[in-house]
Amino acid sequence: MIKLTNVTMQYAASSRPALDELSLEVEKEEFAFLIGPSGSGKSTFFRLLLKEDKPTKGEVHVGAFHVNALRNRDVPKLRQSIGCVFQDFRLLQQKTVADNVAFALEVIGKPASTIREAVPQTLEYVGLSGKADRMPHELSGGEMQRVAIARAVVNRPALLLADEPTGNLDPDTSEEIVEVLDRVNRGGTTVVMATHDRHIVDAMRRRVLEFDNGKLVRNDEHGVYGIG
Ligand code: ADP
Ligand code: ADP
Repeated sequence: MIKLTNVTMQYAASSRPALDELSLEVEKEEFAFLIGPSGSGKSTFFRLLLKEDKPTKGEVHVGAFHVNALRNRDVPKLRQSIGCVFQDFRLLQQKTVADNVAFALEVIGKPASTIREAVPQTLEYVGLSGKADRMPHELSGGEMQRVAIARAVVNRPALLLADEPTGNLDPDTSEEIVEVLDRVNRGGTTVVMATHDRHIVDAMRRRVLEFDNGKLVRNDEHGVYGIG
């Protein structure tokens, strides 16, 4: 699903590279945790997958996309195949829960009939039945993150990138959110989750990719958070 080959990303000629000759693979339908200290290159990795940045050198493949060679007009197709969830939820505050999820389908031109069917189904899927008409500010943090996940998966992406999705949530709520991500993964979506939450990583025992200074320093199939 993801394949990086000798990828270096250097933002400025004078600085050390954010990613340094990085090679790694994530298989289709895997759930992988991305760990490592702040500044180790996790966000840069996500940006390269989305073609928000271009590597200084090396090859990036995501699904059937050779990201390096992708023409500008094909970048939206790449991005439509990747759902994204963030620590700060990034909901549209003026739209209801249902409209936040519907908007993700509207912007890619899905017909109204598809949207009418998919939105309630996806809200139920993430555990938000009954909240469709609420505004984001009426929700708990965990509910907001469920809306963000619904929006990210409503188009059934092949890959879901979650950048510290539990970073603003208490431990019990974090566990519930990871259960939702696990359900999405079991439905066939590859999930990569950047996190600092050792309890979640240790409880899940999924692939652990550890970055340090832009290098992959650990790749364990059923990993724990470790001493880091
Ligand atoms: P993480 O997500 O693990 O905290 P980042 O990918 O954000 O790490 O950062 C890796 C390195 O790249 C850091 O040294 C950071 O300062 C640098 N960096 C990240 N984004 C930029 C940018 N847009 N311009 C210059 N340097 C950047
Ligand atoms: P589980 O194995 O957790 O029960 P399934 O994949 O069998 O999940 O799906 C259960 C229900 O959720 C079905 O109605 C299915 O269409 C719906 N569903 C599954 N994945 C998604 C998704 N990414 N977005 C919206 N609905 C989904």
